[in-house]
Amino acid sequence: MNTMTESEINTMFYISEISDEIFARIKGKSYKDNCTVPVTDLRYLHLLHKDLDGVTHEGEMICNVKIAEDVLEIFRALYDAGYPIEKVRLIDEYDADDERSMADNNCSSFNFRTVSYSTKLSNHALGLAVDINPLYNPYIKTLNGKPHIEPANAGPYVDRSADYPYKLEEGDLCYRLFIEHGFSWGGHWQSCKDYQHFEKTFE
Ligand SMILES: [Zn+2]
Repeated sequence: MNTMTESEINTMFYISEISDEIFARIKGKSYKDNCTVPVTDLRYLHLLHKDLDGVTHEGEMICNVKIAEDVLEIFRALYDAGYPIEKVRLIDEYDADDERSMADNNCSSFNFRTVSYSTKLSNHALGLAVDINPLYNPYIKTLNGKPHIEPANAGPYVDRSADYPYKLEEGDLCYRLFIEHGFSWGGHWQSCKDYQHFEKTFE
């Protein structure tokens, strides 16, 4: 796949509606029985990404129609620049278990779930948030004076001054692309930090 022509690459980046086949893969997993988001509001993205060794992989993601074009453009720019993204698989391959998906450093968007330690729907429930290389860019919240980290195996990546692969930081290409497309970054939050997380809000 590393010897594709430009037009072959173009055909690998596309957006489609949720077909019956795709719906069968998400039903009861990320698309839970109580899901309040119409399936017509969601889109399937097919894309390419490169890992740390520059090897090309196919990726799949489901997000809200409102951000589908943005997300595809961002992943295309990341691919063209060789920005390393380890995995982009449907979270349903992890039974929609966010912790398992994050622990495997898998990027994802739509998952009908609440915010951790809350009953509030996450922006992931609407498919309006995207997590990038989550193992290396954990969610960090202090609970009862103790740091709580998601995924649990992200301990080595809590120190944001250290140097390691897949690290997202202000000013890097991935950060700039999401900001240019109107997203905000969880690394800027005050009450907790969610370094993997970009979201777009609509009135
Ligand atoms: Zn997130």
